[in-house]
Amino acid sequence: MFSNFINTISQLKNNIAYLLGIRAPWEVSDVTFAHEEREAWIHVSYEDGHQLPCPECGSPSSGYDHRPRQWRHLDLCGYRTMVVMLLPRVACSEHGVRTVSVPWAEPMSRFTAEFEALVIDWLQEASISAVSRLMKVSWNAIDGIMQRTVQRGLARR
Ligand SMILES: [Zn+2]
Repeated sequence: MFSNFINTISQLKNNIAYLLGIRAPWEVSDVTFAHEEREAWIHVSYEDGHQLPCPECGSPSSGYDHRPRQWRHLDLCGYRTMVVMLLPRVACSEHGVRTVSVPWAEPMSRFTAEFEALVIDWLQEASISAVSRLMKVSWNAIDGIMQRTVQRGLARR
């Protein structure tokens, strides 16, 4: 009867992929923990051989290279959690070499969309300094999230 509670690592990866909105060709390749530091890393990769869309025009482009990138995500079980990957850059025939967009974060952001949404929620209730302290992120980073959200809101109007 307890078999329902036994969770394999592959189920954990699938569940985290689902929660992050990660779909093929992106996939969660591993989840690792550093218990003393109370840190967790969600490792994401993408299936090689897939063409990825240029972030400017969306046309399928071939891979150019990869750059290491990480995004702060909501804490898992109180552990400071990062999404990490070698993020592909594509060579678009029209726009040249561009970093691809990822489904879990805004371009240029070092935080996942879920993390930014929680910061914005907290900013309705507390000052930038208080949110910075609570989320363990610098004042400037919180301010940056706020500025980008305001700009996105203006762009949508
Ligand atoms: Zn393009």
